[in-house]
Amino acid sequence: MNIVIVGSGFGGLNAAIEIRKKLKKSPHDVIVISEKAEFVFRPSLIWLPFHKHSTNKFTFPLRPTFEKIGVTFIEKRVQAIKPKQNHVICNDNEIIEYDYLILASGASPDWARIKGLEGMSASVYDLSSALQTGKKLEEMEEGEPIVIGVAQENPNPGIAYEFLFELYTYLSERRIKCPITFFTYEKELFGGKGTEPTEKLEGLMREKQITYHCNVSIKKVDDRMIYLNNGKRLPYSFLLVLPPYKGKEYILSSKDFKHENGILPVHETLQSVQWENIFVVGDANNIKGTKTGRAAELQGALAAKNIIKQMQHEPLMLFQHDTLYIMEIGKEGAMFIMNTSSKQGILKWTISGMMPHMMKRAFEKYYLLKFS
Ligand SMILES: Cc1cc2nc3c(=O)[nH]c(=O)nc-3n(C[C@H](O)[C@H](O)[C@H](O)COP(=O)(O)OP(=O)(O)OC[C@H]3O[C@@H](n4cnc5c(N)ncnc54)[C@H](O)[C@@H]3O)c2cc1C
Repeated sequence: MNIVIVGSGFGGLNAAIEIRKKLKKSPHDVIVISEKAEFVFRPSLIWLPFHKHSTNKFTFPLRPTFEKIGVTFIEKRVQAIKPKQNHVICNDNEIIEYDYLILASGASPDWARIKGLEGMSASVYDLSSALQTGKKLEEMEEGEPIVIGVAQENPNPGIAYEFLFELYTYLSERRIKCPITFFTYEKELFGGKGTEPTEKLEGLMREKQITYHCNVSIKKVDDRMIYLNNGKRLPYSFLLVLPPYKGKEYILSSKDFKHENGILPVHETLQSVQWENIFVVGDANNIKGTKTGRAAELQGALAAKNIIKQMQHEPLMLFQHDTLYIMEIGKEGAMFIMNTSSKQGILKWTISGMMPHMMKRAFEKYYLLKFS
């Protein structure tokens, strides 16, 4: 049998490793198709614009990792899936047949969904945009207004808080004073994760004199101003907005998949609602909750287990969502936020300081050591 995985981020890499582990001595072929032959530990992108990290310390080539565990790696972009024929079609028209397919191709920022936003905002979503953002910041001058925000429907607001506090620290270290305004569609700062993270963030905003607006959405953006639905107009010189996400082109252009802006609906088993031999993991699916690398990683492993269960005609397992997030907060270190269900009920835990920051750095090192 051919088990094919599209994408080699947190979701795809973990799915491939889990399947190979579980099917060690079986004749099944595990094939990963990905447009990039390099793994990027994306949470570490947050440090790149502030010259606190270098690219070669949080990326590694994937081919040797896959060779070691007996996974075939194909470095190509997928341009279509034909689910009725069980075919994946690559950009050079090569056809790869599958018995089971895991889609782990992530999502892209959908700048065009917000009127006027395209081309106006800095970004930290990938290596090149994070480096470009660093260059923009080097040109910042005293007094220039800064706006950082989370647009309606963005599924990982944590990145904006991290950027905000890292930026504040960066400017303070350079003794540059700029008025900063933050906004988010969330009802309260990092809402829904318990009162502790919200209160901590409110305190930091007060202390650093950062003006903020919660429960707002963007009406439109132009090259000088952002217009919110509460009537506020925020002038900016530097802007970073986290936009909504969209799925990849091969889904957006497909007639065989129902999707919401390219994001694929799945059952709690991570199985496509339409095709029972297709599983979708990570940022590419519509499972509720914050879209994180941790969720993608857990889902990659679960999809792998469920494929094996399906082969053996056993009942499939359901995905259990939790929150385990380490958010950088500048000079103060980081905030560790856990929100998970246990036999005793919902377990909530938040700590802040240098310890969570060290945990975040250590986790990156552990990940790279384990998989590269
Ligand atoms: C600045 C920043 C900070 C973050 N901080 C955290 C954090 O602290 N904690 C946390 O848990 N998460 C964090 N995240 C979120 C996390 O990185 C993402 O949720 C995670 O990367 C999603 O994993 P994924 O495998 O679903 O998709 P991705 O990581 O996007 O991987 C998608 C893969 O698919 C491939 N691909 C895409 N299209 C195609 C195609 N057509 N053909 C072939 N291959 C394709 C790509 O090359 C890539 O290998 C952060 C993200 C950013 C940007």
